[in-house]
Amino acid sequence: MRSISLKARAKINLGLDVLRKREDGYHEVKMVMQTINIYDKIYMKIIEKPEIKIVTNLSFLPTNESNLVYKAIQMLRDEFNIEKGVFANVYKYIPVAAGMAGGSTDAAAAMIGMNKLFKLGLSREELMERAVKIGADVPYCIMGGTALAEGIGEKLSQLKPLKRCSILVAKPDISVSTKFVYTNLKLDENTVHPDMDGVLEAIDSSDVETMAKKMSNLLESVTAVKYPQIEEIKKSMIELGAINSIMSGSGPTVFGIFGNRKEAKKAYKTIKEKGIAKRLFLTESFNK
Ligand code: ATP
Repeated sequence: MRSISLKARAKINLGLDVLRKREDGYHEVKMVMQTINIYDKIYMKIIEKPEIKIVTNLSFLPTNESNLVYKAIQMLRDEFNIEKGVFANVYKYIPVAAGMAGGSTDAAAAMIGMNKLFKLGLSREELMERAVKIGADVPYCIMGGTALAEGIGEKLSQLKPLKRCSILVAKPDISVSTKFVYTNLKLDENTVHPDMDGVLEAIDSSDVETMAKKMSNLLESVTAVKYPQIEEIKKSMIELGAINSIMSGSGPTVFGIFGNRKEAKKAYKTIKEKGIAKRLFLTESFNK
């Protein structure tokens, strides 16, 4: 095999809680991750020249060591003393810096690609162990599906696959830095934490409706307060029939879970017409 094409799928958070700030400055989280069917396309090819060459359709993305695909290729190339080079075309479709783990999922796909292209023989677990060096979300992106992430996001437990449901994903025209959100998060005795156990129980009972009703994201207390567009989109989705709508990750992306495709389609049309989202996707949950 000289080349490979991969789909790098995005994630949303069906719930996100921050338990505490650790002494080392990292935050201890409890989040439910869900893969959705929105993806970047990664094409990788073995080349004779001993270099890593990245091209991408987004001019503002780095193509050097700062690109997570570069980092992923470099890590495995170094460990396995691979002499040949790798060319990768990263076709971005997932919004960047949106709380959808776009960079992390590209890195995960690049690791899977390297494992296959060079027949490294690494198991999924062995890939996941290495993935954490690139980023806390990368092991989850290798695992995919429905999962609970704890610690700084790297302690993973696979959950029962979410019953397939329609999801409307909207990214407003703002950029949010994850660092800003965590720096401004206030945790004290008045903090109302999301009912993560309720979300987990509903997933275990395959009860999408209850799961959606219990969804909540503590980081909205920072991002949605600063950017009213987030509440506006959430409100619109609920008015248009979503069971519930919350922000994903540190934002600004908002998603709504719908009971049926027809309603989700109608909501897609209306939100598109309102012009309140820069990017809008009608998609569904994805479990292998
Ligand atoms: P998360 O949900 O994990 O917080 P995110 O969606 O907020 O992720 P990304 O899309 O992963 O954020 O991008 C964050 C930063 O990573 C960007 O500023 C971007 O320049 C950099 N980056 C490096 N490589 C990539 C890549 N392959 N795709 C997207 N961003 C990348």
